[in-house]
Amino acid sequence: MAKSIAIAGVTGAVGQEFLKVLAQRNFPFSKIKMLASVRSVGKTVEFKGKTYTVQELTKDSFGDVDIALFSAGGARSKEFAPAAVAAGAVVVDNSSAFRMDPDTPLVVPEVNPQDVAGHKGIIANPNCSTIIMVVPIWPIHKVNPIKRIVVSTYQAASGAGVKAMQELIDQSRAVLDEKEVHKEAFPHQIAFNLFSHNSDIGPNGYCEEEMKMVNATRKMFHAPDIAVSATTVRVPVLRAHSEAINLELTNPMSPEEVREMLSEAPGLQIVDDRKNNYFPMPLDVSGKDDILVGRIRQDISQPDGRGIDMFVSGDQLLKGAALNAVQIAELLI
Ligand code: NAP
Repeated sequence: MAKSIAIAGVTGAVGQEFLKVLAQRNFPFSKIKMLASVRSVGKTVEFKGKTYTVQELTKDSFGDVDIALFSAGGARSKEFAPAAVAAGAVVVDNSSAFRMDPDTPLVVPEVNPQDVAGHKGIIANPNCSTIIMVVPIWPIHKVNPIKRIVVSTYQAASGAGVKAMQELIDQSRAVLDEKEVHKEAFPHQIAFNLFSHNSDIGPNGYCEEEMKMVNATRKMFHAPDIAVSATTVRVPVLRAHSEAINLELTNPMSPEEVREMLSEAPGLQIVDDRKNNYFPMPLDVSGKDDILVGRIRQDISQPDGRGIDMFVSGDQLLKGAALNAVQIAELLI
């Protein structure tokens, strides 16, 4: 049934992808409302051949809205999502505001679509690096439970929004032109550099992004004891995150079995050409829905065949954010 939808944060990196994904998937809608901050009021956005004027996101924005897609930051979700729910909308939220709230399902449709049913008005999208990790490992976990995950990320500038993408471009130009490099979106120079993820470090020495990967995986897999250790790193890539994933499984499993299983799983594409040394790359996956999986190999440090290594790349603006949220909205209709 066609729904009235609103996009909160439509001018942002994820908001712009929402428009593309809704159009591409021909999402049935009767009305669509474009919302952002007061700074964007009056700007226009194009959607399916029509021009829409951006309105200010307020608590009164949701009177006639069935589904509200939020990507305007956690503070805005906390402030405005309850008003949207009170007005009768179901919120699909991209921020961290409600992810660990026990009343809020945290959903990746390839993993735990059934959890949508328990929502009380808000459904959360996990953070992008978690989504890109769980889609390729869930099919394995289902048949051979994962005991431990060790993951290292290579996260693109776009994960931090429109300003961060522009900062990478501007800094790269400045370095090549031997001009002064300006930093605003990131605490360190991102061009020709990399650094530990710029979220706060907690008392256990892990940063927030790393703990999101631990906690969100446990919640979605309904596996509170699964061991996860993450190291998250920002790299000078414009778009699409990559991750090196190491798994300790309950039972031995061969790389061939894993490759065959993942080649049949939804949302994945195998790129594992050892002969030509061709594996997942952020440039290849930018703008694509599927997550690329390669370097599938036995972990030789686990001699009993229970260890698997892989390398994945996924467009975190799409599957890591907008696409996942629209897939959730599709489950709602
Ligand atoms: P972004 O490019 O910086 O866009 C932020 C959006 O929020 C803009 O539309 C902005 O509107 C709006 N906004 C900011 N302050 C506002 C306010 N006071 N009232 C109303 N709207 C306001 O950021 P993004 O990367 O799209 O991320 C948006 C959210 O999605 C964040 O919560 C982020 O954590 C989450 N997320 C991002 C990614 C990713 O890969 N980027 C992945 C998963 C989740 P103006 O243009 O008017 O300022």
